[in-house]
Amino acid sequence: MDRRKFCKTTLAASIAASMPVLTACGKKAPVATVADTSIKGVSLDGAEIELEKAAIRELGDAMSGPVILSGHPDYEGSRKIWNGMHDKRPALIARCLSSEDVAHAVNFARDRGLLTAVRGGGHSWPGKSICDDGIVVDLSHMTNVEIDVDNKIAMTAGGALLGHLDDAALAQGLVTTAGVVSHTGVGGYTTGGGFGRLNRKYGLTIDNLLGAEIVTADGQVRYVSAEQEPDLFWAIRGGGGNFGAVTRFDFQLHDFDRDIYSGMIVWPVEQAREVLEFYADWQGGLSRELYTGPAMITHPELGHVIAMEVVYNGDPAQGEKEIAPLRAIGKPAVDAIMVQDYKVMQTQEDAMLAHGIRSYAKNAMIGEFSQALVDDLVDSYIADPRAGIFTHTCGGAVADYGATDTSFPHRDTQTMIVFFTGWMDPAEDDVGKQMCRDWHAALERHSIGYYDNIEQDGDTRVARNFGPNYPRLREIKAAYDPGNQFRLNSNIEPA
Ligand SMILES: Cc1cc2nc3c(=O)[nH]c(=O)nc-3n(C[C@H](O)[C@H](O)[C@H](O)COP(=O)(O)OP(=O)(O)OC[C@H]3O[C@@H](n4cnc5c(N)ncnc54)[C@H](O)[C@@H]3O)c2cc1C
Repeated sequence: MDRRKFCKTTLAASIAASMPVLTACGKKAPVATVADTSIKGVSLDGAEIELEKAAIRELGDAMSGPVILSGHPDYEGSRKIWNGMHDKRPALIARCLSSEDVAHAVNFARDRGLLTAVRGGGHSWPGKSICDDGIVVDLSHMTNVEIDVDNKIAMTAGGALLGHLDDAALAQGLVTTAGVVSHTGVGGYTTGGGFGRLNRKYGLTIDNLLGAEIVTADGQVRYVSAEQEPDLFWAIRGGGGNFGAVTRFDFQLHDFDRDIYSGMIVWPVEQAREVLEFYADWQGGLSRELYTGPAMITHPELGHVIAMEVVYNGDPAQGEKEIAPLRAIGKPAVDAIMVQDYKVMQTQEDAMLAHGIRSYAKNAMIGEFSQALVDDLVDSYIADPRAGIFTHTCGGAVADYGATDTSFPHRDTQTMIVFFTGWMDPAEDDVGKQMCRDWHAALERHSIGYYDNIEQDGDTRVARNFGPNYPRLREIKAAYDPGNQFRLNSNIEPA
């Protein structure tokens, strides 16, 4: 008997009825639940609510992907996100495979006032893509990237990772700005802004966004662009996940030779002042092709170091000429700049920042990389293998946009300094967090704001950080999400 027919028999029907929520028929995986008639959920404002089993079954029947509850073999894996510090147990995980699935999950949650998390790549430092007792609208299995070679557009599903985008585009001799760790999700990354090694030439990732498909709180699947619903299109370019779940991003691509002049120069940390003083004077005149900025980290063999990453997006001979003064500084322990595949750079931090690490991060957008900043960088240095700082070099095409052109406001930043701590033992949580906070506090006076995507404590400063864009963001939030269903983000209060 074939499987479909089997499921229609009385015996199978009674087995199905005894399974708490959904059957194992068709393409769905079996789903288990903990209660007979309902399970516990939590409302948007934190009150306990009951979620009827029959309604969950209906949701599962409507979706092409499974609804996963506690007890399902995929539950434990699906509730884990990148930062091992977040150990949350959602009531249900709606694993979406299409925009329609996302709409079903959003409708289900909205109708019940159920706390809603949207998960893309799961890289949220503060753990905004997971929740206790709510629903996770899980896009992590929507990873397809289709390339329109003629028009140089990457149609990228809302749960794809940056590695999926890079791989698909590079295979066609094309690229767009993507961040520095390939297992970061396109969804949260793009809606927050999107910094990467090519941003000085091509701008932020949002500057390459031509349009997007988004499921809003009313369950509508909309396409937004400069022509269609331009306010919403403006809002999702920096406003994070506040406005709905983006199911597709259409990115402008650029012709690109993936053999790129790039690598690292590394000096013992004792030479940090010399290197940083030089950098502070030199970085203002960089070409748009050159992306380079300091990191202060612990190297597995060399110990505490200052390192300078170099990516030259142009003629290697020209790149060699431009970075010659940097290479002449001090006595590098390693000088490994060469023509190599762009993917070497795009994946070199993947293992160090692997899933499961316990981590805390803050950042400071620096208006001017001044000598006073150099003093504070050197004086506040924390020689601990769990702590490090990295930088994202801005300027160039990032500054071609004004503060209000997209909802991401910090266009006049020269450099973003990222303060990062990482450890594995839960007993080190407090010390790990505090080290990051202390280092950040020592440099905060140089900051003109922060990048929400790499900020653990952004929630309390949302209005100030969005600056002139905040009133408009609140109006758009009120128009598209008046009930504030999408609140697990740096939340914009509906006007
Ligand atoms: C190791 C590491 C490296 C990083 N490197 C960079 C970098 O080089 N450049 C940079 O700019 N940032 C970087 N980031 C920060 C990164 O941009 C944010 O963590 C971002 O939120 C990750 O997106 P995600 O989809 O993986 O996150 P998730 O944890 O899935 O989601 C984060 C937030 O975005 C929302 N969201 C996710 N997907 C969608 C969607 N499809 N539609 C609407 N909302 C959505 C979620 O609801 C949540 O509020 C890095 C982060 C980590 C952990």
